[in-house]
Amino acid sequence: MSFPIIDGHMHLATDSMAKKWARSEQEESIIRKRREHFKIPGYELYPLQKTAELWKAEFDKYNISKGVFLTYEPHNEDLLSFVKDSQFIGFTSVDPTIEHAPAMVEEDIKAGLKGLKLYPVNRGFSVSDKRCYPVYETAQTLGIPITLHFGVSIGYFSDLRYGNPIDLHPVARDFPDITFILAHFGCGFLRESLFLSYQCQNIYFDTSSSNRWIEYLPYEITLREVFKKCLKVLGPDRLIFGTDSNFFPRGYRYNIVEEQKLILDSLQVKEKEQAKIFGENMARLLNVRLD
Ligand SMILES: [Zn+2]
Repeated sequence: MSFPIIDGHMHLATDSMAKKWARSEQEESIIRKRREHFKIPGYELYPLQKTAELWKAEFDKYNISKGVFLTYEPHNEDLLSFVKDSQFIGFTSVDPTIEHAPAMVEEDIKAGLKGLKLYPVNRGFSVSDKRCYPVYETAQTLGIPITLHFGVSIGYFSDLRYGNPIDLHPVARDFPDITFILAHFGCGFLRESLFLSYQCQNIYFDTSSSNRWIEYLPYEITLREVFKKCLKVLGPDRLIFGTDSNFFPRGYRYNIVEEQKLILDSLQVKEKEQAKIFGENMARLLNVRLD
């Protein structure tokens, strides 16, 4: 690759984080069955230091400059220590409907995190709920982007009623200075995501994961055609590359870099534009150096 890569969508998971997940036996068994159904590879969890060493080795091996690591909880101590290394960037997360959410976001940003991830589907809330507005006001003041997971989710406790990105329209309209990044091209709601991106110029998509939602559309479409359409509608300035790498031993999902690079080459997307998608756009949003 002739340009530096920032992976815009990854997850940090350590053994101490897992201890806080505290699930019941029944929940564990439901999750196990779903992992089998979706053929999700097994994983091992390690303490933070070892996890950081493993990611560092993967970044060296595949020549990845930086990665944005998402979390599910605010005040994630492991994530806050992890991002002391400038290769690793962290986004916080909150339930934005609760009263203290804006303060928690502000504290995490002051402690070194650089963005916010919201999970309307997994947490079961509507992003247009007025109770969330103080969080958006805080994000706008802090100048941080917000990544959102809409659409289908492997999480058992998800609620697809909150999965339609159209719900974000009044928010994106009312907060034009916040960049909203829809993970996985809207994860199934491609049409709605494209409509939303037409309505609001502050809507970006991330390209992360294997994008298996494509298999559940009522028509045939390939990832190449998804890219082609999104490049036409949003252009290369509003697409953010990501892999959704999360656990070991699988490690860094370099196959996704290769797949998406091949697609962009086959669509004759210029190197200069590919460099934006693979890193420059995220560097610009986060105001970080790309080297
Ligand atoms: Zn993810």
